Order: sequence, then C-alpha cells, then structure tokens
Amino acid sequence: MLFNEGRDAPGSITLQQVVQAELQKLSTNRIEFFSEHLYARHFSDKANFQLFQDYLGKKYAGQNLDLFLVFPSGDYSLAGALPDALFPDVPVVFLSVNELAVPSAISKLGVTGIIQRFDVRGTLGLMLRLQPDTRRVVVIGGTSEVDRAALGRIEESAHALEGIEFEFWTNRPVAALPAAVQSLPAGTVILLSTFQRDVTGQPFFMSQLAQMLVPSASVPVYVLGGWVLGSGVVGGVVVDSEELGARGGQLAFRVLGGVKPETLPIEVVTKGTPMVDWRALRRWHIRESRVPADCLVRYRPVSLWDEHQDLILISLVVFLAQAFTIAGLLAQRKRRRQAEAEINRQRTELAHVSRVSTMGQLASALAHELNQPLGAILRNAEAAELFLQKAKPDLEEIRAILADIRKDDQRAGSVIERMRSLLKRRDLASNPLDLGELIEETVALAWSDALTRQVDLTMQVSARLPVVQGDRVHLQQVLLNLILNGMDAMATCNPADRRLVIRAEPRKDGLVEVAVSDSGTGIPPDKLERLFQPFFTTKPEGMGMGLAISHTIIAAHGGSIWGGNQDPHGAVFKFTLPAERSSP
Ligand code: ADP
Repeated sequence: MLFNEGRDAPGSITLQQVVQAELQKLSTNRIEFFSEHLYARHFSDKANFQLFQDYLGKKYAGQNLDLFLVFPSGDYSLAGALPDALFPDVPVVFLSVNELAVPSAISKLGVTGIIQRFDVRGTLGLMLRLQPDTRRVVVIGGTSEVDRAALGRIEESAHALEGIEFEFWTNRPVAALPAAVQSLPAGTVILLSTFQRDVTGQPFFMSQLAQMLVPSASVPVYVLGGWVLGSGVVGGVVVDSEELGARGGQLAFRVLGGVKPETLPIEVVTKGTPMVDWRALRRWHIRESRVPADCLVRYRPVSLWDEHQDLILISLVVFLAQAFTIAGLLAQRKRRRQAEAEINRQRTELAHVSRVSTMGQLASALAHELNQPLGAILRNAEAAELFLQKAKPDLEEIRAILADIRKDDQRAGSVIERMRSLLKRRDLASNPLDLGELIEETVALAWSDALTRQVDLTMQVSARLPVVQGDRVHLQQVLLNLILNGMDAMATCNPADRRLVIRAEPRKDGLVEVAVSDSGTGIPPDKLERLFQPFFTTKPEGMGMGLAISHTIIAAHGGSIWGGNQDPHGAVFKFTLPAERSSP
C-alpha cells in the first residue's frame, strides 16, 4: 500500500482500515499488508521521490508482491510510473479523491482504480435545503494543484446558483482565518474546500482547518469530505471513506483473483453521501425536519430506547402485567368488601329473625310474668276504690296501695322493656359490659319459662369478673339461646333432675369464660360436629339457626364457642370473650 500522504492524514486512515478489512473479509487466504508513505506535502521534490522509489525497490525485491494498492491523492505517478519501474508485472489498484483529470497514460500500464470526485453540487443543494435563507457562500480553499482543481469545480457549480453570492478566500494565510470567520453576517455559510497548502506554503489537512475555524465561526461550515465530520461542521454530500474503502477492497479482490486490471475501466464516482452532524444542527437551530430522508445523521446521542429497547419492552410488559394484576386485585377487593357488607347485613337480619323466634318461645311465659303485676294492679285498684267509698277513707292505706301499684307497673314495664330491646333490629355495637349484670338480665327473661318447665335455674358468677367489650343484646341472645336449648334438652327428664347452671369466671389467659350446663339428654357423639352448622336441628319445630348465629356473634366479639357432653349426663356449652384491656 503506497500513500502519497503521511501516516496521519485523516482522510486515508479510515480508507486504509476499511480496504484491509474488506479484503480480509472477502479472501480466504491470509493477506499480508505493508504500507509505505511518501509524505509528499513535506517532501515534494523529485529527489525525494527517487529516494522513495529506490528504497521500495530494494526493500521489496524478494517479497513476491501480488498487488500495489495505491492512494495517490493527486500524484498519479505513484500509481503509474513508480510501480511500473520497480515491478512491472505486479498489478495496481488505486483509490483517489480529487478533482484532477486522470492522466491517459496510466490506464495503459495495467492499472485500474476508483477516482472519487467531490459532490459540490450535492453539497450546495443540501446547504440550501437546510438553510434556505443563505445569500452568501464563503469558500475557503488551498493553493496546491489539487486545491485549485477543487476550487475550479466549486466555481463552476456556483455559476448555476443564481441569487447567491460566492466569495473565494484563497489568498489568506491560515493564521488569519479564525479571526476572519468570527463576524460573518447571518445569511452566510462557509464551504470548506480542500486545503493541502495555504498561501504561505504551509501544509494543512482539511480536518485540521475545520477544527481551527468552527469554534470561532459565526456561521455554519459545510465540507466535502466525510472524514471532516465530527469537528463541528454541519456536513455536506461528502466523500464517504467507508463506502469508497469497501468498493476499493472489492476491486482489489477481483484483481488479486486474476482479473487483468486493464480490462477493468477506471471508475469515476461523482455522487457523494449526504451526511450531517446532529450536534451542529442543534447549534445552528436547523430543524431536523429539513434534513432529507436519505441523509445520514451522525453523532445523535443514543437514546435510552435505542440502547435498551429489549429491556424497555420487557419492563413495559412487566409493568402492564403488574398494573392489570393490581387492577384485578382492587376489583376483587371491592367485590369482597361488598360481599362482606352483604354478609354482615344478612347476619344482622338473621340474628334478628332468630331473636324474634326465641322471643316467640318465651311469649307465653312472659305473658304469664306480665299477668302477675297487671293482676296485682287490678286488685290494688279495686281495693283502693273500696277504701274511697268509706266516709272517712284511710289515706295512709290508699297511699300504700298506690305505691304498690306503681311498683307493679314498673315491674311490668321492665319486662316489656327487656322484650323490646331484644326485638329491635340492630347492628353489632361495642360497649364495655358487666357480664354478671348481663347474665342476670337474661336469666330474668327466662325465669318464668324455667318456672313453667320446672327447671332449677342457678347462676354462679365470679366476683372478680372483668369488664368485657361487646354488644349487650347480641350477647343476651347467645345466652338465652343456650339456656333455652338446655331447658329443651331436659324436657323428658324427671322434673327433680332438671338443673341448669350458668357459670362465668375469668381465665388465666385473660379471657372470660361463660358455661351453660344442663342435666338433659346430652348430644349424640355423631352429632357433635354439626352443632354449629346452620339449619342443624333435632327438634320438630327447631330452625337450627340458634347455635350457628351464636357462633358468628361470639366470633365477631373475638371469642370462641364450643359444646360437648359432661359427666354423668347432660351437655355443656361454653364461650369465651376477651376482657377489656383496662380491667383488672
Ligand atoms: P334449634 O334449637 O332450633 O334446634 P340450635 O342451633 O340452637 O337450633 O341447636 C341445634 C341442635 O343442637 C339442637 O336441635 C339439638 O339437637 C342440639 N343441641 C343444642 N343444645 C343442646 C343441649 N344443651 N343438649 C342437647 N342437644 C343440644
């Protein structure tokens, strides 16, 4: 590989890499590359060229070279005369980027190659598309033969553009340029042409110049070579080193494969690749919508989406799945709450129905209990009338009778009051309760029934009973239910053996335990499990709801209820309630 430029010429670094990579990709053989650089910008005299030629001739004499890959950048003798003089049988493929005419002699020497022209017209077109307000183009170019050829092409194209003024800055030393571009007015753009050498003879690379000018330039800079992109210039329809390198590699591969170079015509490419720097678009507020669809936009920051597309999609799916699950769970919770509320309502309803039916069982006994005070009131009233008929009524006596009437009335009133409170439909409340008092009230309700049924009803309530938290009416319902069940179970016993005991005592674990035991038939062992199931009953007129409801009431209080048999006969039902915290 022969390079006219130095090793560090920005234009040929990529070109070399791509050509080598392309060749290696295409070939199954191992290819060895040697690269030699003439550094023509610095060593331009004939003597140096001769020195280079002699050196190559001696160095590669025994190497059996298969191909010269030449990057002549304007000096076609590097692709023609030099290899022809040294190894005339070795084929030559060259890649050149410039505007010079191809010397006709070269194609006769077993040489082929690609000459890439700058797409000046394309670049000017892109410039006007991105910045339609452009009125003036400042062209900055060098003074070498190659530079002048490029400027000539730009001048040609400039003629075709009416209404736009072109200004050629070719006779200014590079040192003066940064200051000169600082205050260019709006509506101006800079077009950077090739710049091998300035007016003082100093050698430069286009990309070096771009780096010097762009930071201070008051207007956007356009270029013709793709390798200049990245230095802050906007871009252009540029020579794409990658594309040119790949095509050069393919051409070289064909020649290495045996195709005679002279049968392959030298190709002249005039079309460039539209390419812009995204950061420069931002800097000059050029809308991206103006960028043509086929234009490559370089240096656009990689978005999170570009970089982690898979991850984002997976996260999105997971997120959506999660959102749906949460929504589903929320809906489910709402339905459950509704169902719970409905169950609560039905339970209250059922408890009420059950209470009413329990009261029905007590009705005759209660009527009897009411009859007593009412009868006494009647008798006392009659007695009072008799006293009043006397000439001198004994007022003391009448006063005592009235006091009796008042007492009997209060007795009857309290019976009715107890019944009424049990018959009311109500939700579960939670108040501090004296369990002893509650048991006494309940026993009072069942008392007359017990008398009728000849049941010996006794209470054993511990004096140290702590206060419990709960609903008076509902707990009374539970107790009453247990008492009536016990009395039912003793219906067939000898009246002398009908004993029902209600015990209440604190337990060591902080709970209060209430037990209702009877001396009745007991519960058949196979029925024990089903006692608390709804509608389980062994009684002809039973509903089978009493224990089931008692179970829900006690559970709602945070306690438990269970039942079993006791020695020697009879059943015992127990329930616990948590004591109120503050109570001893
Ligand atoms: P019901 O009294 O309407 O039958 P319960 O739920 O109160 O409904 O009682 C269910 C069943 O449990 C009764 O039918 C009875 O068979 C049994 N049972 C309840 N208490 C006792 C008890 N103290 N002795 C024997 N069996 C009982």
